[in-house]
Amino acid sequence: MAEQTMNRIQMTTPLVEMDGDEMTRILWRMIKDELLLPYIDLKTEYYDLGLECRNATDDQVTVDSANATLKYGVAVKCATITPNAARMTEYNLKEMWKSPNGTIRAILDGTVFRAPILVKGIVPYVGKWSKPITIARHAYGDVYKNTEIKVPGPGRAELVFTAEDGTETRELIHNFTGAGILQGIHNTEKSISSFARACFGYALDTRQDLWFATKDTISKKYDHTFKDIFQEIYDAEYKTRFEELGIEYFYTLIDDAVARVIRSEGGFIWACKNYDGDVMSDMVATAYGDLSMMTSVLVSPSGVYEYEAAHGTVQRHYYKHLKGEETSTNSIATIFAWTGALRKRGELDHIPELMSFADKLDQACIKTVEGGKMTRSLAAISTCEKPVILNSLEFIQAIRETLETLL
Ligand code: NAP
Ligand code: MG
Repeated sequence: MAEQTMNRIQMTTPLVEMDGDEMTRILWRMIKDELLLPYIDLKTEYYDLGLECRNATDDQVTVDSANATLKYGVAVKCATITPNAARMTEYNLKEMWKSPNGTIRAILDGTVFRAPILVKGIVPYVGKWSKPITIARHAYGDVYKNTEIKVPGPGRAELVFTAEDGTETRELIHNFTGAGILQGIHNTEKSISSFARACFGYALDTRQDLWFATKDTISKKYDHTFKDIFQEIYDAEYKTRFEELGIEYFYTLIDDAVARVIRSEGGFIWACKNYDGDVMSDMVATAYGDLSMMTSVLVSPSGVYEYEAAHGTVQRHYYKHLKGEETSTNSIATIFAWTGALRKRGELDHIPELMSFADKLDQACIKTVEGGKMTRSLAAISTCEKPVILNSLEFIQAIRETLETLL
């Protein structure tokens, strides 16, 4: 230990560290103490995104942390509470503060990429999936920013666009002969382009094929515009680099994509429009086994990265913890958030030891579970004959023991 302290890996640029809430905040501390600080001279710029601090700063701390991420390029984030009515009372909040993830995503103009962590013994429901499928979800517009009308009875519905000079463009939607419903949705070229660039950039970064699918045969203007923007940006800015790396950009219809995904072995990025991404990410996560094994990274079109776990603050475990009861919360996705960020920092700052440490810590997590030591929810889905179920801290300590053998 003394020797390790002396030879700790040095960093040059700080990581933006965004602390969070509840059980994941407890794990955050344990991960730093057991798995990071003994080995790395950790440089971070710390932002406390715990709900108390967000409330005390009128949520300015969230905005500051996002701006710091734009400045330094890499952040690691703990799960945070998105306030609802119950949290207003629980934390005596001044306001129902917005989701930090939403605020950060808006400032970074980012796209979220989610991928499962695969371990032997936890078998995906889809038998052929031997590599992770990464879902990229466009997080702007479509039905999530819709305008709706409940049509009471007969009448004509039109789509009207009024240009700044007053010129109107009209399209008939439907001549209603009775009651019905209407929905208006939109998207912007700017948002679709950012989404496309984040996807192409991340494909290059992770050397994986990129698939994209919409329903352009039916939606000849709306969905077709998504298809066209992706193709134009690909041809103009990314095609050469994709070819150099031997990776592919592949467009197909959404129903064809679904069939191909199920028959595939995985190992690619699947870019989805907002609604498709909402549905497909839950399907993919469930099929790979466990929410606590999903990683998540927000990537901006300019190449700024924010790493986190896909799961929330694991509130139910936290309340047990507060009552002094034992918890068995899986810290792997949060550890992978740290290693993702440290590896990226190492890559940007040319610190091979930092990248190698991140790889070894990832391996240590996987090997520990494959060796039969795991948390309760993993044991429930593992094919391991006699899994040893550890509590939250014991599991992190077991990972540390494995790590020591790899260093
Ligand atoms: P959650 O924290 O993801 O937990 C839901 C359930 O999934 C848990 O009760 C637990 O099941 C299981 N689980 C999730 N992660 C686990 C882990 N690491 N180890 C073991 N089991 C795990 O979702 P939630 O309870 O709906 O939300 C709690 C809070 O998190 C909310 O305030 C929400 O706003 C916030 N949230 C934040 C983010 C984010 O910051 N990215 C994302 C989602 C939700 P069992 O209880 O059955 O063991
Ligand atoms: Mg959903």
